[in-house]
Amino acid sequence: MARGDTTDNAAARLQELGAFLRTYPVRGAAGHSYISSEPRGAAASPALPYNPDAEDRIRACMQEIAEHTLTANPDAGPPPEQVAAYYEWMRQNTQHAPEREQFRAEVIEYRQWLENCLAARDNETVRKAVRRQACPECGCWGLMWMPTRRRAICTNRKCVDQDGASTTLSLGRLAHAVVTTRRKTRQARAT
Ligand SMILES: [Zn+2]
Repeated sequence: MARGDTTDNAAARLQELGAFLRTYPVRGAAGHSYISSEPRGAAASPALPYNPDAEDRIRACMQEIAEHTLTANPDAGPPPEQVAAYYEWMRQNTQHAPEREQFRAEVIEYRQWLENCLAARDNETVRKAVRRQACPECGCWGLMWMPTRRRAICTNRKCVDQDGASTTLSLGRLAHAVVTTRRKTRQARAT
């Protein structure tokens, strides 16, 4: 699968992670009727083992997207059938929501992309994404990815908290920083 910037997005990652859904469709969880399943197709990958972690992961992504979208826009229609179409559905249904909700939608999408990369054991892509981001605390370019802790750490020795511990960023904080930078760049280009 190509990993260019145009194709490597959250939707593509979720689809890739969900390839097994063609063999094992996700069923809606009780109480969450908006969680739809991919249509049951021919067994595209019959050798693919059943993966409950992937199913949980996909279900969690769909649920978070649906909850945020329906909170930001109660008039949003039903979620799409295809899991990979969820992000576009969230974008379309939050485009007139308050700025705060649009921002949050972008952060959710980016964070899920990171999480789905890790779920596919692709640390390298996350490592590169971390290196492309300046530290939101000190502004330096010294962020490094720590796979075992699932956090980014700032290598600037002056960038520490009150106890002298290095600044570290969770995936959520990292996504927040990336989206903040992305929006500033967009605004600067627009003026
Ligand atoms: Zn820093």
